Formats: sequence, structure tokens, C-alpha cells
Amino acid sequence: MHIVVCIKQVPDSAQIRVHPVTNTIMRQGVPAIINPFDLAAIEEALQLKDRYGARVTVLTMGPPQAEAALRKAIAYGADDVVLLTDRAFAGADTLATSFALAQAIRKLGEEEAVDLVMTGKQTIDGDTAQVGPGIAKRLDLQLLTYVSEITDLDLSAGKITVQRRSEGGVQVIKTRLPALITMLESSNTIRFASMPNMFRAERQVVPQWNRDRAGIEDASKIGLKGSPTVVSKIFTPRPSSQRAKMVGADLDATGVANAVLDVLSSDHPRFAREIGLVTP
Ligand SMILES: Cc1cc2nc3c(=O)[nH]c(=O)nc-3n(C[C@H](O)[C@H](O)[C@H](O)COP(=O)(O)OP(=O)(O)OC[C@H]3O[C@@H](n4cnc5c(N)ncnc54)[C@H](O)[C@@H]3O)c2cc1C
Repeated sequence: MHIVVCIKQVPDSAQIRVHPVTNTIMRQGVPAIINPFDLAAIEEALQLKDRYGARVTVLTMGPPQAEAALRKAIAYGADDVVLLTDRAFAGADTLATSFALAQAIRKLGEEEAVDLVMTGKQTIDGDTAQVGPGIAKRLDLQLLTYVSEITDLDLSAGKITVQRRSEGGVQVIKTRLPALITMLESSNTIRFASMPNMFRAERQVVPQWNRDRAGIEDASKIGLKGSPTVVSKIFTPRPSSQRAKMVGADLDATGVANAVLDVLSSDHPRFAREIGLVTP
């Protein structure tokens, strides 16, 4: 079985700031990490490898510095990595990004057929959650989003069973391979890198694929040219201020409940009507 995991190197969101004048993200000095949902995808792929045997290839599209993320993936246990990097990819929106990644996966499939593609649910910087479904559409893969766990894999029948978190609960879904899964973050505990894999991560050559190596002939589908999205403005919303209302500090539980009901009825009559607190 061949699993391809797509990961994105992102700035640590806890340390991101937006430039007050240009409204662009200030990346300088912000440490780069593997997108947390993508780490969960790597872990899930490695667990499949442990259980069923698999070759795990980790793929990223990004600047040359993204190599560090791939070395980390090797340290966790990935077998192979590919860095998709070319000036021609610069300025890509999610459409152009998923096109380039899909082409690279197609190319990887020429070496060994790809049974499963895994991505994170979304990134913590772009946040669109579009790239996974975009790849699935282009490669005509079964799409399983918001997956918390892969519960079963029947390789001889070419079937996979997953748990998918939805608003109403957990769905158990069985579908055929090849498929693309977008992973949730909290589904598994990320393993520690082993010492042999850490040494391998230092030594292993990270192949860099440019546009030609990825087999992309149509330059109008990548980079800025292939990106119809325009970010016209980015701004931080002004926090809305709310007046606090003090109710008596000496009230018992019933008194507090009554005071809250009074506030709701007088200050938020519409909400009070909606929840049946007062009759219209
Ligand atoms: C007009 C425009 C121009 C842009 N120009 C640039 C630019 O010049 N440089 C730049 O860095 N970004 C640029 N971006 C942002 C870039 O489009 C996004 O970073 C990229 O498409 C991923 O989107 P996302 O972060 O929302 O990923 P999501 O769709 O939220 O990601 C879902 C999953 O897809 C996978 N994934 C996402 N991106 C990658 C990747 N690159 N490699 C491998 N797997 C991935 C991961 O598994 C991830 O968890 C631009 C965006 C727009 C709209």
C-alpha cells in the first residue's frame, strides 16, 4: 500500500501578527511548524504502516525552507519525501495549490500506485480547508472529510472504514480505495521521533521537484496565473464592547437564577421569547 501525506509548513499561529499598515501577515521571526492537523495525518498514516505495512510518502509544496518540515516527517517515520518547489508556484491560491499537488501525486503514482492520500482538515494559517477536497476532485478519489479515526482497512477488498465527526455525532463510513482523507487534530497521539529515524532524517536526500519534474505542462494552471482568488483586504475586527451588569453578590443560587432571568427578559427580550422565557 502506498500512502501520500500532504503537509504544509505554517507559521506558529500563536506568534502571528498582522502588519497594521499593509495588512499582511508578518512572518519574520515567527517559528515554522508542521500544520497540527497534518501531524495527525502523518501519525495516522504511520499507524496504518505499523498495522498493515505501507510505504508512506510525505509531500509539501513550498519554499526551499519547507525541507525542514519534511526532515521532521522522516524523523517520525516517513519513508520518502518530496518538496515541490519552483518560482512558478509562487502566488498560488487554493485552486492552483491543489492542482500542483494533484499533479505531483499523479507523478508519484507512476512509481507506485497511490491507494490513500491524507491531508489535514485545514491549515492554521490559510484556514480554507479547500486543498484536500481540491486534490480529491482532480484525482477522482473518494473524499472522506473530518476523519477522526481509521477503524478498518481491507486491502484485498480495497475498502476503508473511518469514523467521521459531524455536528450530529460520529458517522462510520465505509468506501472504496483509492481515497483521500482529511484528518482532524485530536484523533491520535503523535509519536516521538525514534533515534534511528532522527539520524536518517539528517542524512536522507530530500528530492526537490520543480514544475517539469512534477509533469506540469500547462503553466497557466499554477502560481499566480492559475489563481483566480484575490485577497482584497485583511483586517482585524474591532472587539465589540459590552456593558457588564452587576447583580447582588449576596444572592443564593435561586436568587442568581432569578436575577439572570430578569436580565434576559429586560435586556434581551427577543432571545427570551425564543427560548420560551416570556410568551410573545
Ligand atoms: C491570491 C492568493 C495568493 C497567494 N499567494 C501565496 C504565496 O505567494 N505564497 C504562499 O505561501 N501562499 C500564498 N497563498 C496562500 C496559499 O494559497 C495557501 O497557503 C494554500 O493554497 C493552502 O491553503 P490553506 O492554507 O487554506 O490550506 P487548507 O485548504 O486549509 O489545507 C488543507 C490541507 O491541505 C494540505 N495542504 C495545504 N497546503 C499545502 C501545501 N502547500 N503543500 C502540501 N499540502 C498542503 C495540508 O494537508 C492541509 O492540512 C495565496 C493565496 C491567495 C488566495
